[in-house]
Amino acid sequence: MAEFPTQARAVVIGGGIVGTSTAYHLAKLGWSDTVLIERYKLTSGTTFHAAGLVGQLRANANITQLLGESVRLYTTLEQETGLATGWKQNGGLRLACNEERWTEVKRQATTARSFGLEMHLLSPREARDLWPLMDVSDVVGAAFLPTDGQANPSDITQSLAKGARNHGARIFEDTLVTSIEVKSGRVVAVVTSRGRIACEAVIVCAGQWSRELGRSIGVNIPLVSVEHQYMVTERIEGVTSNLPTLRDPDRLTYYKEEVGGLVMGGYEPNPIPWATRGFPENFNFQLLNSNWDHFEPLMTLAIGRIPALETAGVRQLINGPESFTPDGNFIIGEAPELRGCFVGAGFNAYGIAAGGGAGKVLAEWVAGGEAPCDLWPVDIRRFGPNHSDTGWVRKRTLEAYAKHYTMSWPSEEHASGRPLRRSPLFDRLIAQRACMGEKLGWERPNWFAAEGEEPKDRYTYNRPNWFGAVAREHQAVRERVGVFDQTSFAKFTVTGRDAEAALSWICAANVARAPGSLIYTQMLNRRGGIECDLTVGRLAADSYYIVTGTGFATHDRDWIERNIPAGLDARVSDVTSAYAVLSVMGPASRQVLQQLSEEDLSNAAFPFGRVKRIHIAGAPVLALRITYVGELGWELHIPTEFATTVHDALMEAGRAFGIANAGYRAIETLRLEKGYRAWGSDIGPDTTPLEAGLGWAVKFNTGAPFLGREALEAQRRAPLKKRLAGFVVDDPDVILLGRETLYRDGKRVGWLSSAGFGHTIGKPIGYGYVRNPDGVDDTYLQSGQYELEVATVRVPCRIALAPLYDPKMERIKA
Ligand SMILES: Cc1cc2nc3c(=O)[nH]c(=O)nc-3n(C[C@H](O)[C@H](O)[C@H](O)COP(=O)(O)OP(=O)(O)OC[C@H]3O[C@@H](n4cnc5c(N)ncnc54)[C@H](O)[C@@H]3O)c2cc1C
Repeated sequence: MAEFPTQARAVVIGGGIVGTSTAYHLAKLGWSDTVLIERYKLTSGTTFHAAGLVGQLRANANITQLLGESVRLYTTLEQETGLATGWKQNGGLRLACNEERWTEVKRQATTARSFGLEMHLLSPREARDLWPLMDVSDVVGAAFLPTDGQANPSDITQSLAKGARNHGARIFEDTLVTSIEVKSGRVVAVVTSRGRIACEAVIVCAGQWSRELGRSIGVNIPLVSVEHQYMVTERIEGVTSNLPTLRDPDRLTYYKEEVGGLVMGGYEPNPIPWATRGFPENFNFQLLNSNWDHFEPLMTLAIGRIPALETAGVRQLINGPESFTPDGNFIIGEAPELRGCFVGAGFNAYGIAAGGGAGKVLAEWVAGGEAPCDLWPVDIRRFGPNHSDTGWVRKRTLEAYAKHYTMSWPSEEHASGRPLRRSPLFDRLIAQRACMGEKLGWERPNWFAAEGEEPKDRYTYNRPNWFGAVAREHQAVRERVGVFDQTSFAKFTVTGRDAEAALSWICAANVARAPGSLIYTQMLNRRGGIECDLTVGRLAADSYYIVTGTGFATHDRDWIERNIPAGLDARVSDVTSAYAVLSVMGPASRQVLQQLSEEDLSNAAFPFGRVKRIHIAGAPVLALRITYVGELGWELHIPTEFATTVHDALMEAGRAFGIANAGYRAIETLRLEKGYRAWGSDIGPDTTPLEAGLGWAVKFNTGAPFLGREALEAQRRAPLKKRLAGFVVDDPDVILLGRETLYRDGKRVGWLSSAGFGHTIGKPIGYGYVRNPDGVDDTYLQSGQYELEVATVRVPCRIALAPLYDPKMERIKA
């Protein structure tokens, strides 16, 4: 056996598929001084008992591509290493048994088309031709993805391990990581049962044990273990080795062929958490007791689909624990709490499907120091303080598990673990008929019901029950005045002698402005991609106030902190809990506020793009003159204890002007009309301000250096290969939800990054990037004929390069 090292560049903890894939890719990238530590044997955690289905389609393009990377790797790995992987590309079949599910499947087919993944819709009979054992009497339709497949999880892992070794990585089994050493906020070493290894980077791929390991060094990895079962049958007449994998979500089950029999598993609506009081020792290559009672309802559903199961011999009911997360997405990236500590864990029963691609991007993240592409849905920085409590994480995770195969409705909210974080206005807004949604634990009003309406979401792929309420709120803001409780905004201060120098480096816009200035800016990565999109207010020479989206609290703070140049005196503090936020928006907002304040709120005294300390109804308020809804308005940041007083006063003073509470769904329709970009959908790390039409906010003309400038300058010298544009459909009954395929002159050029309905213009609106390798300019954009594919049906649309509403900003800057 090789000598045990005392030093390595990177140490990967865990020899499941994810750790092994990460070590393989790191070594391939030239990090041959990578060591993988496994406490028992490779695959002995969860990997050895996975069923091995490999599906690819996800709601996000990059995650779909990541899963496609797995497929590409599994297709060629045997050739590379000489070790078989059991990879079989038999395709994947997905059934729909009611009209709503059929709509979902059709929308998925369109999403697949948008992302360049082959997916065909089949009739029930065609589906049965592929899977002759099925009873299709209740099937409305099916979808087939020819490039999906299945593999042997242990074999893939061994093959990856061989590939990793071939590229110089060293793997040590029977070695336990007992602790991780930290110095000055950085990982410095891993301590094992065989000695200490000093290292630059640690990559925690310890499966369900990752949460404990993370906790020991202050890193939050929100996952919990849940029991997951599948049955393996004896041979069944008619089960052939070329059978596609099968997912039957309406019956909560999945299937694959295995040595002439079937593997059948599923997602119970009442999942059973495991190891709630800690893990048993030496849980290696172990399974849990089969739980037939719990499996029986799935079995009954499965027999209805595959009658042959009724008489098939059962070889085994495998019950294995797997790590699941509160949103059903896995967790990768560098931990915001600790430099040099990377995580790849929480794979929600698709770690085999994701392992190849996840290991690749994680290795690139480690080697490159930044995420290689937009990985927001799986980024470890998507979590917040609500995710630090294991009890809360478990509740939400069990809900996510139970919903694995249920319909994933547009705008669907979670129900568990609520309410947790409440604005001071929560009770008032509930009393005023708010229907709440939740983000990062915060309760936020989505919409307000009228008398006689129930403030409760009823989900559908058609027009939802809140459509009318949102239209009313939208109209109130456009014509009169609306109040939004945006207390959940993440808020930071950046203070210190060098605050200006630090933020000038990190922000693409010019923030070296006089106190009182309020600046909309992006923060860019080295590729020029947009990492943050936020508002920066200068309060004093040494003090800035930053406001960003609720969900971006951890991410944006991490981005700012890690990019403050060394040696500068600039500190970031999170002041989210200190301020409630009421946004007062609409043409009558000034009149309403002026009644409650002695300060002059005229345009001359308080113009757009300024921040001021004023008083409203006796409360000291930081007022930001800005808007995300396209109307005259102010964001009032109010010390929390004054918030209810201010809200009461606003409603009272606003009565004569027809003031109305409004919610987040109205914000969305209002911003769509105005063309404001949303980070996480329209803009993100893979899109630059130039591509997003935000070049006007970049300080090109100052000559000042800033992070991402070189990449942007280079991009400016060549034609842009993609550009964001607005699209409007004239038929008001078309329902756009995002991800619809975009065609220019009959050719697929992109998809909608976000979409909805514009209640002022009375039409569906979407935004999407038009891609063309030869360049995209105004002439190119305007010269095309556009169509959108909506749930497999093409509909004509028109391009809009200016905002669809108030293109000249006249209403805002009044
Ligand atoms: C019943 C079942 C069916 C499944 N079916 C599928 C499927 O069809 N398709 C699919 O894609 N996925 C499936 N999965 C999910 C898949 O098995 C997992 O997502 C995947 O194996 C996770 O891999 P991992 O590397 O993250 O974790 P693991 O395989 O658990 O690896 C983690 C490793 O870390 C080691 N370790 C932990 N702590 C330490 C320490 N302190 N020191 C050293 N080593 C340590 C452990 O020993 C373990 O080997 C299924 C899971 C279950 C339970």
